Amino acid sequence: MSSIAENIGEIRDQIGKAAARVNRDPADIGIVAVTKTVPVDRIEQAVAAGLNVLGENRVQELTGKYPFLPGVEWHLIGHLQSNKVKYILDKVSLIHSLDSLSLAEEINRRTLSLGRAIDVLVQVNVADEQTKSGVRPEDTVGFIDFLKGLPGLKVKGLMTIGPYCENPEDIRPVFRKLRLLAEEVKTIDFPGIDMKHLSMGMSNDYIIAVEEGATLIRLGSIVFGLRQ
Ligand SMILES: *Cc1c(COP(=O)(O)O)cnc(C)c1O
Repeated sequence: MSSIAENIGEIRDQIGKAAARVNRDPADIGIVAVTKTVPVDRIEQAVAAGLNVLGENRVQELTGKYPFLPGVEWHLIGHLQSNKVKYILDKVSLIHSLDSLSLAEEINRRTLSLGRAIDVLVQVNVADEQTKSGVRPEDTVGFIDFLKGLPGLKVKGLMTIGPYCENPEDIRPVFRKLRLLAEEVKTIDFPGIDMKHLSMGMSNDYIIAVEEGATLIRLGSIVFGLRQ
């Protein structure tokens, strides 16, 4: 089995090649190391190898690991229940998974009472899968129009979780659609809404995501090995 540092080296190599194919600067592509089920000592190896942005999809796991990994940046990448917002606002720098108006209102209420704001991405259910949360593509512009009235949230882009595809090439239209949606939002030019990030691509399909414009890729098993 290869080491975490070796895995990361190989990933950086692949990102470099994919970026070159589409004339992108690899420096514009951030890796979020997805640490669900991964113990702290293995996460520390990834941090030592240069991955200092960590993503968890469950609040409890994030808050459990948080005290043991000082000096890193945390992102919440999974579905967030409104009643858990209060546990993470002081710990995460970006929420990738804003998927409902009620969650947006709760985040806004909490951040304003703390006298601050938080960066969020709007999760879009591009493939309209029953099992996945996220705003429908056709509702995305209206959703963002609503968010511009919530000063406790700073929209920084869009996120999607693609359907699992045996052949990663099959997911390309999903990623392309997310990029086009972000372009559409940009043309409307909502005040205070910034479309700088596209969070898309996981271990199975990050190379395609980089080719389609991802600025944040979320990698778990390809960094740490398969989860139990
Ligand atoms: C688990 C998870 C990932 C990473 O998945 P891998 O296939 O292990 O890279 C990315 N994004 C989200 C939202 C996840 O829950």
